[in-house]
Amino acid sequence: MSLTEINLHQELKKYFGFSQFKGLQEEVIKGVIADKDTFVIMPTGGGKSLCYQLPALIKEGTAIVVSPLIALMKNQVDALRSISSEHGIAHVLNSSLNKTEIKQVKADISNGITKLLYVAPESLTKEENVDFLKNENISFLAIDEAHCISEWGHDFRPEYRNLRKIIQRIGDNIPIVALTATATPKVQEDILKNLGITDAKTFKASFNRPNLYYEIRPKTANVGADIIRFVKQNSGKSGIIYCLSRKKVEELAQTLQVNGIKAVPYHAGLDGKKRAKHQDMFLMEDIDVVVATIAFGMGIDKPDVRFVIHHDIPKSIESYYQETGRAGRDGGEGHCLAYYAYKDIEKLEKFMSGKPVAEQEIGHALLQDVVAFAETSISRRKFILHYFGEDFDNETGDGGDMDDNVRNPKKQNEAQEDVELLLKVVKETQAIYKAKEVVNTLIGKSNALIKSHKTDEIALFGKGKAKDAAYWMALVRQVLVAGLLKKDIETYGIIKITPAGDEFLKAPKSFMMTEDHIYDSESKDNIVS
Ligand code: ADP
Repeated sequence: MSLTEINLHQELKKYFGFSQFKGLQEEVIKGVIADKDTFVIMPTGGGKSLCYQLPALIKEGTAIVVSPLIALMKNQVDALRSISSEHGIAHVLNSSLNKTEIKQVKADISNGITKLLYVAPESLTKEENVDFLKNENISFLAIDEAHCISEWGHDFRPEYRNLRKIIQRIGDNIPIVALTATATPKVQEDILKNLGITDAKTFKASFNRPNLYYEIRPKTANVGADIIRFVKQNSGKSGIIYCLSRKKVEELAQTLQVNGIKAVPYHAGLDGKKRAKHQDMFLMEDIDVVVATIAFGMGIDKPDVRFVIHHDIPKSIESYYQETGRAGRDGGEGHCLAYYAYKDIEKLEKFMSGKPVAEQEIGHALLQDVVAFAETSISRRKFILHYFGEDFDNETGDGGDMDDNVRNPKKQNEAQEDVELLLKVVKETQAIYKAKEVVNTLIGKSNALIKSHKTDEIALFGKGKAKDAAYWMALVRQVLVAGLLKKDIETYGIIKITPAGDEFLKAPKSFMMTEDHIYDSESKDNIVS
């Protein structure tokens, strides 16, 4: 069937009962129907599934959907079966099927009945499945949660790395549709390269959540009391409080309970029955607050969560975004409050110490971005969106005034000359350093790496020593967000100058900088562990 013959709106209505496409769906679907390799980046809830489900239903043959989550596959298959009289329209192929069931699935595929075949990557790699599928009519291959390919994603799965090879064995020219809610440029690059679809048509929706209010508070010994006060000020509203450890979850839930707040704990150490009960109590609004580890939230679709509190700062901005994203799904108020102390970063670093070196390095780099985010005094929203590769203008953008830093701006100082100096250092050292060495060069602090490049002998070395490392680090971050410098995507962390930075050096102009928050002096000695 050619595109011109299909009335997509009619098909949408017929299969899903919707009268409008959401966001970029229609364009994506047109591309998939036209057999284009496609890359879809949309935040959770953006409507990614439909981007492959509708084309699969329309096209001839069977679409293979690779997904890491068995529960999710089952849900989708059940939903698809409910829209058709043909039970075999969607199947899951996995190791729990018995011989007769496998035979039925294969017969349905061969007979052209099955439009969507869901598989976990482990099942797809099985010899007998590859042998079977390569003789079938496969319309395209959709890879859900494609960030699992990347070690820089929050859910790396080594099996995902083998997908490209398997796909080639199933068929030479099978179009690939990769989908993810992870928007960091590094992860995106990994996905495209790994799947060998660097020229895929890419669709990226905005990650801005204008109704969410972002706030970071210093974490002091009084954090428990502060949380109680916050929850009481928001009494009757639903909220989630995330803690790092199960122990803390239990403790805090109890503290809230004795203070008259309807709260329950949720973590993977509770038995399944109890977890399900606590989740239901939250959904049914028998309780107001769930105190939880990150085990809570996957697949929770409560539209009116009014606040998400991080008792402990998450290990990446990605996690922070996903977790805070559970607030305000209905478009209403969503207050995202996180408590930050540098000691918690050190704790997270310690957790990583037993892991393979590469993993530690990645974890460390992600944590550095969390520190930068927590300590920054520029708009939190601007920072997050920049992290996801999006430009955001607080004057004109939706939700431009919805964070603590914008509401309570710190004093700004002219930093034009310092920006010039910073850019010159990056240029003169030929973009070989990460932020730390750039700052060390500015303040004239040598180390082995700096010596090995003889940077301590250049005229610019120590030219910025009138100011301290914290000042320069803050300036580096703000200049990064302003787009005059960028982090190299291959090495992550190596700082390079951008064309806008070169422009600035040619014609320097005003650059107003705000000094970062210094939380540690307030909280160093009285951290609640
Ligand atoms: P994602 O996978 O991006 O997190 P889903 O595919 O689960 O998002 O879709 C999120 C929700 O949006 C689902 O409840 C889905 O039924 C709904 N949805 C998707 N497309 C449309 C549409 N065109 N019109 C209305 N609702 C839609």
